[in-house]
Amino acid sequence: MKAVVKTAVGYDQMVYKDIPEPEAAGDLVKIKIAYSGICGTDLHAFKGTYASTKPPVVLGHEFSGIVTAVGPEVTRFKVGDRVTSETTYKTCGVCPSCLSKDYNLCSHRQGIGTQINGSMAQYVVSREESVHALPENVSLLSAALTEPLACGVHAGIEKGNVSKGDIVCIFGVGAIGQMVAQVSKARGATVIVAGLSSDQERFEIALANGADRAVDQSKENLADIIGEMTGGVGVDIAFECSGAVPAANKALEIVRRKGRVVQMGVFPEAREPIWTDLILHKEICYVGSRSQKPSSWRTSIELLAARTVVPEKIVTKIVSLADWREGFEASIRGEGVKAVICCNEDLAEHR
Ligand SMILES: [Zn+2]
Ligand SMILES: [Zn+2]
Repeated sequence: MKAVVKTAVGYDQMVYKDIPEPEAAGDLVKIKIAYSGICGTDLHAFKGTYASTKPPVVLGHEFSGIVTAVGPEVTRFKVGDRVTSETTYKTCGVCPSCLSKDYNLCSHRQGIGTQINGSMAQYVVSREESVHALPENVSLLSAALTEPLACGVHAGIEKGNVSKGDIVCIFGVGAIGQMVAQVSKARGATVIVAGLSSDQERFEIALANGADRAVDQSKENLADIIGEMTGGVGVDIAFECSGAVPAANKALEIVRRKGRVVQMGVFPEAREPIWTDLILHKEICYVGSRSQKPSSWRTSIELLAARTVVPEKIVTKIVSLADWREGFEASIRGEGVKAVICCNEDLAEHR
């Protein structure tokens, strides 16, 4: 089969080539891939700046497809099922995080597309526990983005507890920020998205998908706007989805007393100057949100089925597997929101 392989550590070192098809042994489900999203971590892997990537490995961890074979231990799936899958391939199974199914926090976790061959290929295998059947009304294109949606659910619901009537502010309008915005709208919140002048197209997509206000911080004063919208109180919850330190500090500034700031973006350095004084004096709950876990996937599938969240609306580019490089380059240039690879043309739904 054809696959996009990161062959060695370092910049680029990626080739499109033939490799053997994976086999559905044991509890593995073999999936013919329809779509595979290009994620920020794939771009880091391309640049050689993502330490978790262990070459040689096929990249890609956001995908949808059709089951073409199942291992002898598989009971819940059969050939022909439309599915997506969590990225967890292996965990230690015995640490406190595994016992509570917080697989995102297991230090021995192995993930599809980082340590295990991923979805930028014609086929992938995933363990039965990680695979999810798709409701009939969910497109394969939307389903391919269940992973970033689950990250948004983990942050928005499991960490942020966004509730009806809340006013939230989201810093960063990339794929993750857009997913948090859609999840927050689904929960009945008023949503403000904040970014910079380069985010115009991303603002438009957020507004088209229900965001109430987009603030270009290079032209407008976010604190003033939030002051007006909240009677000087501040937002209930802020999400930092950009990884920019000034955005994290702005989030602490514009959140209300006893409010909540959820940190999703990865900062450039391990230690950064964060305005801790505000955390103390405003009694802010400043909480991290890392990746996603099984409970986030279950909620994501429910949101997809209810069509209160439609991830395909953030897809701005689709390329064929052979043209994977075009998708990566557009993403690196910061074009649009989400580029997706179509891995098997016969499963394409977009034309
Ligand atoms: Zn991702
Ligand atoms: Zn573990």
